[in-house]
Amino acid sequence: MALTLTDLQAPHGFERLVEAKDQSAGLHALICVHSTVLGPAAGGCRMWAYASPSEAIRDVTRLARGMTYKNAMADLGLGGGKSVIIGDARRDKTPDMMRAFGRAVQLLEGRYFTAEDVGISPADMAHAAEETEFAVGLSTASGDPSPWTAEGVFRCLLVGAQHVFGSNDLQGRRVLVQGLGHVGLSLAEKLHDAGADLIVTDINPDAVEDARVRLKADVCAPDAVFDQQMDIFAPCALGGVLTGDHVARLTARLVCGAANNQLATPTVGQDLISRNITYLPDYVVNAGGIISVASEIHGTGNGWRRARLDGIAGRVSQMLDRAAQHNRSTTEIADEMVETMLARNSAA
Ligand code: NAD
Repeated sequence: MALTLTDLQAPHGFERLVEAKDQSAGLHALICVHSTVLGPAAGGCRMWAYASPSEAIRDVTRLARGMTYKNAMADLGLGGGKSVIIGDARRDKTPDMMRAFGRAVQLLEGRYFTAEDVGISPADMAHAAEETEFAVGLSTASGDPSPWTAEGVFRCLLVGAQHVFGSNDLQGRRVLVQGLGHVGLSLAEKLHDAGADLIVTDINPDAVEDARVRLKADVCAPDAVFDQQMDIFAPCALGGVLTGDHVARLTARLVCGAANNQLATPTVGQDLISRNITYLPDYVVNAGGIISVASEIHGTGNGWRRARLDGIAGRVSQMLDRAAQHNRSTTEIADEMVETMLARNSAA
């Protein structure tokens, strides 16, 4: 049977939610376009063994909305979207499935650009790209986005340090980097070069040993993060790491890291304020990767990427000033900045 594209009822405030099915290729995917107010929607494709289609719909809509905010804040001239393929990436994925997914993306005629996300590799995207001109983040084009993500986090961390400590000199500041993967290790190297005293943790002992030797880092066990003395906490592993209990024990005065969805619940934003801990919203500081991907969409080079990184650091500074002035959380201020941008452009 050929590919079928069916429009589903999109939640209020979303532009489009599409279901793509191709039985012979084993494809069952959902593509959500949250907003094209600022440009065509862009956001990765995730493959996951969702327990039910409604769980997949919840995830794809939540992620698509998040991309609108991230792309707007990074000034990319792009809206927000996301796609999910329902299935086990290790067992079910085939080149044929990815090609069918590419055909589905192509049928949206450029309203949505796709890229890799959890469960999808650059090689998978290359199969999708055989069928669509709207697949980006290919290893032959903009390349690995992680160094750009690390650079963006580092620049924002310097802005945060200036705000919190009155100086962006990291010499002797104690920074804990949680997760030494693609982004965390690169960030740890930059922090080391800037003179910070590192504490590192990872569930991978080889990564920890490398940082201990090369970056002269102190090491802590993954479950001992919130028992450490530190000035700055840089979460670069998992989401949901800041729970109420963790914030109560956190000694850092600044949190700035790459991990997505760091606040376990929205109320943790208030817990951070009451403990006088400055939190730089994850979706703002970790936009370096999507900036890199966007440069591929727009056909721009490194100068454009660097200007966008400068832009996010500048917006972090504005956000911190406003949050301090109104005694509100940086997350609320960031969301409000995006909503103002969207309203201004919808009206235009
Ligand atoms: P990665 O998989 O390369 O690295 C994650 C690291 O965290 C791994 O080394 C892993 O062993 C470690 N880890 C896992 N559980 C841990 C735990 N309980 N305690 C300590 N360490 C643990 O991922 P990445 O690409 O470096 O991304 C890191 C985070 O940043 C993720 O949350 C990702 O969603 C987010 N992010 C990444 C990018 C990017 O460009 N790669 C862009 C935006 C956001």
